[in-house]
Amino acid sequence: MGVQIESLFTAALGLQAPWVVEKVDFDAARRRIDFEVACTAKRLACPNCEAADQLIHDRNRRSWRHLDFFQFEAWLHADVPRVGCTVCGKTTRIPVPWAREGSGFTLLFEALALTMCQGLPVRQAAQMLRVRDKQLWRRIEHYVSEARAKQDMSSVQLVGIDDTSMKRGQDYITVAHDLDEKRLLFAVHGRDHDAVEKFAVDLEEHGGKRTAIAHACIDMSAAYAKGIATSLPRAQISYDRYHVVALANKAMDEVRTAEWKDESQRVRDELGELGARERRSILWALRRNPSGWSDKQLNAMHWLQRANLKTARAWRLKMGLREVFAHARSHNDANAAATDLKRWISWARRSRLDSFKRLGATLREHFDGVVRGMLDHRSNAFVEAMNGLLQQAKRAARGFRTATNFIAIAYLRLGKLTHLPASPFVPAMPLAAGRFTHRA
Ligand SMILES: [Zn+2]
Repeated sequence: MGVQIESLFTAALGLQAPWVVEKVDFDAARRRIDFEVACTAKRLACPNCEAADQLIHDRNRRSWRHLDFFQFEAWLHADVPRVGCTVCGKTTRIPVPWAREGSGFTLLFEALALTMCQGLPVRQAAQMLRVRDKQLWRRIEHYVSEARAKQDMSSVQLVGIDDTSMKRGQDYITVAHDLDEKRLLFAVHGRDHDAVEKFAVDLEEHGGKRTAIAHACIDMSAAYAKGIATSLPRAQISYDRYHVVALANKAMDEVRTAEWKDESQRVRDELGELGARERRSILWALRRNPSGWSDKQLNAMHWLQRANLKTARAWRLKMGLREVFAHARSHNDANAAATDLKRWISWARRSRLDSFKRLGATLREHFDGVVRGMLDHRSNAFVEAMNGLLQQAKRAARGFRTATNFIAIAYLRLGKLTHLPASPFVPAMPLAAGRFTHRA
């Protein structure tokens, strides 16, 4: 290829003196384009002590994968000089401007890979980029930890602390969210009170103050409350609506499971013979809001609501609690919320349903925090949304789900990290920008 092509690619790759594209090798059959990049300088500054005009000692061959050019896989190759320095006496390889030391990808390729991993499962991104998953995981960890080190947490005042499991019901990760900025601040393996202290330490390493945390939204796990009392001394606890409603759903499921198993004859008497489909239909309708019922579920629930069954009472109790929360969100008044909640607790206590009696007792025990959580609607929807995003992050780590990988991908996606490499796909300027005016 002619000289013009090489200088065109020198510019396209963003290279500056002393680096130039010396040769472009284009192989259509192998779908590859290879760039030979050369360092034209005879003397260079020592990368170690910055002494100017040092002689080149030798050169090492290196290759980097770059962004594809159209459908062609692009590679950069260079003999990278090592400077033999007469001042410090060391022999040091000079850094190349297009890649990190030790990486076989160019910076732009890494930036593209990170951008893709924010929206795609890592395995899928690796397939599309034709690299190994492991190569992506290493880079996610590298860039996330670099970006997190620069993350500013000095304004954090409201946090949500929650756990999420790596596998169904085991191997827990504690996550702490910034409820104002809606970002993941911290994640750590384990879910005991110690996790809160680890968060407080991390917060202070990022410019935050543990005494500045005024409010912590949690579920009713005793461990976090204990951790907050010691590690976030000024924080008032509130219990999140999302978690409380989840407890009510669980209590209702317990009632239904026991009744359908132990009193199947009564269930048959009340509802008739139920097929597997109808049972499933009822099961889902019970958990769902009536506004989301399908026709089939509507029909099933019509009969269930009128049946003299514990399941029907449990459902009414659960809906009653939802109602209390919905009401509180509309009036946002602490006294009214407390009155409503007290009334519900006494209903639960008289319900003769053990799981609801227990839930009533739990809510009474944590009464003030539950009421605060009812009013604090700023955090409620967010905790629920965050939970959904964490599930997505889990799916993104499928096949490589270690705690380290999951935490890294969760930071990448939910951390709102401001020091990550930007996507290389910034929009181009229109062809005619600034030159012509468009004629309609
Ligand atoms: Zn030197």
